[in-house]
Amino acid sequence: MKVYNTLSRQKEEFIPLEEGKVKMYVCGPTVYNYIHIGNARPMIVFDTVRRYLEYKGFDVNFVSNFTDVDDKIIKKAIEEGSSAEEVAQRFIKECKKDMEGMNVRPATAHPLATQEIGGMIEMISKLIEKGYAYATEDGTVYYRTRKFAEYGKLSHKNIDDLQAGHRDIRVTGDLKEDALDFVLWKPKKEGEPYWESPWGDGRPGWHIECSVMSKKYLGDEIDIHAGGEDLIFPHHENEIAQSEAANGVPFSKYWMHNAFLNIDNKKMSKSAGNFFTVREVAAKYDLQVLRFFMLSAQYRSPLNFSADLMEAAKNGLERIVTAAENLRHLMKTAKEGAPTEGEAALLKEAAVYTQKFEDAMEDDFNTADAVSAVFELVKFINTNAASENTDAYFKELYGQMEALCNVLGIILEKEEEMLDEEIENLIAERKQARKEKNFARADEIRDALLEKGIQLKDTREGVQWKRI
Ligand code: AMP
Ligand code: ZN
Repeated sequence: MKVYNTLSRQKEEFIPLEEGKVKMYVCGPTVYNYIHIGNARPMIVFDTVRRYLEYKGFDVNFVSNFTDVDDKIIKKAIEEGSSAEEVAQRFIKECKKDMEGMNVRPATAHPLATQEIGGMIEMISKLIEKGYAYATEDGTVYYRTRKFAEYGKLSHKNIDDLQAGHRDIRVTGDLKEDALDFVLWKPKKEGEPYWESPWGDGRPGWHIECSVMSKKYLGDEIDIHAGGEDLIFPHHENEIAQSEAANGVPFSKYWMHNAFLNIDNKKMSKSAGNFFTVREVAAKYDLQVLRFFMLSAQYRSPLNFSADLMEAAKNGLERIVTAAENLRHLMKTAKEGAPTEGEAALLKEAAVYTQKFEDAMEDDFNTADAVSAVFELVKFINTNAASENTDAYFKELYGQMEALCNVLGIILEKEEEMLDEEIENLIAERKQARKEKNFARADEIRDALLEKGIQLKDTREGVQWKRI
């Protein structure tokens, strides 16, 4: 499997640090509003990378943070007269709803910056101890950028060019030793959240949180660190400087970055007004369509969001789901028995599309070509599945479709969610069955509900239920 590594600017063979295991960290959103469709791109892309790694048999430990303390969150809290914590908690909840709609699986861990302050203080102290950081008299701690000899290795920037760029924007009153130094800890300002530290009350800079959370949940060395391309500099460059100076080992083996999502061929920006939240898109489309649209391009190519392309994605997705529906329908009345000789030959032909799909994914997760392979399989199914085929043949084809769509995160059969009323009715029926000592029926109902994710609990006050 080949992965493009921003560090080497090349596609490299993927060899994890530990055989069969992948440790992966994806920088998550800053939660001060509903996520926009640009934020959705890394979520969908790296969820698909995770799914493909799992399809290949790797055990993936996938960590993604929420930045829940930051200037924008504080500003929003002041505007609405609430607290930063309240704003962050609300939008984490909303973000998780959007993720569910896009079929982005929850990470193994979703750490919050505000819950990891202790670890950040520890790492900053270590950096000071090793001479990589210093505190100034106003209670700010800076990273001593020039001390880290490899600074610039990810963004391929030359430190002297950076210096030249910085000279004119140096802020007066700044107590930095060097214009390139960046903040690890900043002193508190009136009305802002703060934590106690050896350098006085304050809060951490943004970059330190990812170094600390990655270390805590995955260890000093990880396999993949990912995010949007705007994070290469300075965020990821600074993360490398912090982690490698503190831990003394290479931070991440592979650095993956998705290209930007544009709108109508223009950079998405709030000020220009060409800006959509995932929630706005959800009002018009099933979020599966948004997911499918995102996968229509390789993740390192810029992608343009437009009404036409969303319509095309909707139609494409419909073609896939319809083919799967037809197979399910055919399966219901199909004759039993092993595939015939002719069918076996056809199945062999169909297997070529799985191979094509895998070849595309092995080449730096080229989902655009992988989607084409799925379309070819759909076309094959539409011409080679009819009522005279065997059940085993349909099952085989369906399993093949399902396996590929599962990697892409496309749901072929949506489970109808049970309404509260239906659940209550079944609980009443179970109660009646128990009264009539029909325990078999009562157990059957309990199991059926459990399968739909409803757990029953018999209490003195009666039966309680919850979704699990
Ligand atoms: P932020 O909340 O700004 O830190 O962004 C969260 C993630 O979304 C980061 O990985 C960003 O690089 C990514 N991101 C933000 N805007 C876009 C965009 N227009 N296209 C693709 N990725 C984006
Ligand atoms: Zn980060």
